[in-house]
Amino acid sequence: MLKDSFDRNHDYLRISLTDKCNLRCTYCNPIDLPKDFFAGAVRMSADEIDKIASVFVNEGVKKIRITGGEPLVRKDAKDILLRLSKYPVELVITTNGVFVHDFIETFKQAGIHSINVSLDTLKKDKNFSITQRNEFDRVKDNINLLLQNNFHVKINVVVMKNMNDDEILDFIAWTKDENIHVRFIEFMPFEGNKWDNTKVFSFKEILDLIATKYNYIKLINEKNDTAKKYFVSGHKGTFAVISSMSEPFCSGCNRMRLTTDGKMKNCLFSNNEVDILSALRNGNDILPLIKQCVADKEKALGGQFTSAYKKTDATKINNRSMINIGG
Ligand code: SAM
Repeated sequence: MLKDSFDRNHDYLRISLTDKCNLRCTYCNPIDLPKDFFAGAVRMSADEIDKIASVFVNEGVKKIRITGGEPLVRKDAKDILLRLSKYPVELVITTNGVFVHDFIETFKQAGIHSINVSLDTLKKDKNFSITQRNEFDRVKDNINLLLQNNFHVKINVVVMKNMNDDEILDFIAWTKDENIHVRFIEFMPFEGNKWDNTKVFSFKEILDLIATKYNYIKLINEKNDTAKKYFVSGHKGTFAVISSMSEPFCSGCNRMRLTTDGKMKNCLFSNNEVDILSALRNGNDILPLIKQCVADKEKALGGQFTSAYKKTDATKINNRSMINIGG
């Protein structure tokens, strides 16, 4: 069991398969990354991911999320998903949806039932301006393909003021006839993403806006849920808000992260990284490092800021960019 000093049990591991992505959303993948950022980078092999995952599973991990960068751009992504499927865990994935059509059978073989697809807008032009790539139709088609194949589909929407807050009601309308689960995510600060508090459209603002048109009902949350879940009566789907900035959910946190270069992070906002991959390559036991990393976890938000997000100075936060952590 991986317990920290606040008695939180850690049984959920998020593994980044790559820090590369085929989209260019600047809030995640800063434009001013150095040109040679990806060149020569050390990355965990499929074998190494498998070995490291097995140590976590032996310590009680029950859920593994595959993420990135864009996990499905990695050439051996199918092999990795199938290898991880042998563990007694709930295996899930977060993707931008562009290559999903090529992975349907692999997802089924790997026993993956729940897929998070990121889509910040329902407008094609706006999607191009956010992602700087023309993939909107393919992503929409692939969401439909997932639904036709009975996957549980969550749609991740990063809400930013004056960017897509005007589409919140359109996303709710989408849940009327489709069995999709929209998750509005508050905009978070990371290296180079030009975060400032005026761009955050908060949990309260989201609910207040939805209440102008819909009556919604709160659903019961599980202990470790990051999302506060709701449904509108008569709608097939649901919606949720991930209030990382205005109402963080650190007290029930059970998550650990492994970056594609094999560093363990005990929090999305932590600047404490433990080099698991080098230890593995040197033939050392990685378990004491994993335990120490969990034990060192701060009480909230990586110890870097507080929920008074309006006072947060993003320039003082020491962290990687989101694409390089693995969201
Ligand atoms: N490429 C995959 C995708 O698009 O879902 C997986 C990686 S992406 C980093 C994971 C999630 O993090 C996406 O839903 C993305 O929108 C979200 N994300 C990235 N930067 C963020 C930020 N600054 N604040 C909130 N969410 C962010």
